[in-house]
Amino acid sequence: HGSMTHQYKPYEQIRIVKDKYGNAAKQNATMLTLVRNEELFDMLQSIQQLESRFNRNYQYDWVFLNDKPFTEDFIKQTSAMVSGTARYGIIPYEHWSYPDYVDAQKAKEVRESRHFSNVAYGSSESYRHMCRFNSRFFYKHPILDDYQFYWRVEPSIEYGCDIMEDPFKYMIDNKVNYGFTLTLTEFPKTIPTLWETSMQYFEQPEVKEQLPPVEESLLSFISDNGGLSYNLCHFWSNFEIANLDFYRSPVYEAYVDHLDRAGGFFYERWGDAPVHTIAVAKMMRASEIHLFTDISYKHTVAGSCPLDDAFRQKARCTCDPGTDWAITSGSSCNIKFLEVSHQPAMADFEKYRD
Ligand code: GDP
Ligand code: MN
Repeated sequence: HGSMTHQYKPYEQIRIVKDKYGNAAKQNATMLTLVRNEELFDMLQSIQQLESRFNRNYQYDWVFLNDKPFTEDFIKQTSAMVSGTARYGIIPYEHWSYPDYVDAQKAKEVRESRHFSNVAYGSSESYRHMCRFNSRFFYKHPILDDYQFYWRVEPSIEYGCDIMEDPFKYMIDNKVNYGFTLTLTEFPKTIPTLWETSMQYFEQPEVKEQLPPVEESLLSFISDNGGLSYNLCHFWSNFEIANLDFYRSPVYEAYVDHLDRAGGFFYERWGDAPVHTIAVAKMMRASEIHLFTDISYKHTVAGSCPLDDAFRQKARCTCDPGTDWAITSGSSCNIKFLEVSHQPAMADFEKYRD
């Protein structure tokens, strides 16, 4: 690939600045979306949801990233719906291609192998670039240099309640560095060696001494046997609000570099969700990690709904608490999280639990 020239510069395609009629005080933060041009209408749905439930009162910026240039139509239609400044960035080629230590031919054989034929996205090449980008490169995009916190937003999501409090402000006031709404268990076939590769890194003495004490970490959320093996629990990263300084730290940087050199983004199908989760659980104190039980968020198979009747009225919710993923799905790890982190559940949790 070294000999090809790419038109992927400048990294910022266009910035559409809105007249601000600001009311609420804003934090140093942005909405962040990786998306394809073909997903325009699913993206408009997401923007409409988050703007009407939250962002119209704040006008946070919205950063859109793409491995290909955005079309004029995509830019026109999405920027018209965003209340804050809309920025469109192109991903540098080095962040969406094979590194020289990965064998692209072997990666192809893996994708075509029987092992992956019945695994979700098992045969997809672009999905692997996407997961690797979301694991080790998104925070390096130059546009993100302007922000400290991001809120990840995908196409085809729903917010079922008004968001009553600015989550960025909540996180900053409470020293929270990673926030989520939903958890799932990973398909084991996608990550055969992720755990051992991760532990090889985290168990090095010079890394260990930079981590919080194990008792203060969230290791018990991701391992049921003191770190011997992974229980597959992960924060569903299509919703996440986090502090970019966490990823910018040398410990995270070296972790994802170590993972990348092991090749599992391509030779297996490592997702950014388990990668973020393992890093967060090892590197942060449990008190820095927050489950937003008061945000109703839905994407494809899973959705959350606040289990507090009075709150749902106040927040004009349309979600059905009886369908809340945490209490209806055997593959949610939210209850485990509440237990190990000692975070309180919402007021009517017991009423809906069974
Ligand atoms: P899933 O949530 O794991 O089913 O994966 P998605 O298909 O929803 O992809 C995750 C996110 O990455 C979404 O925001 C997609 O729009 C985005 N995405 C996935 N593949 C690509 C790609 O090839 N190019 C770009 N620009 N975005 C992608
Ligand atoms: Mn998705």
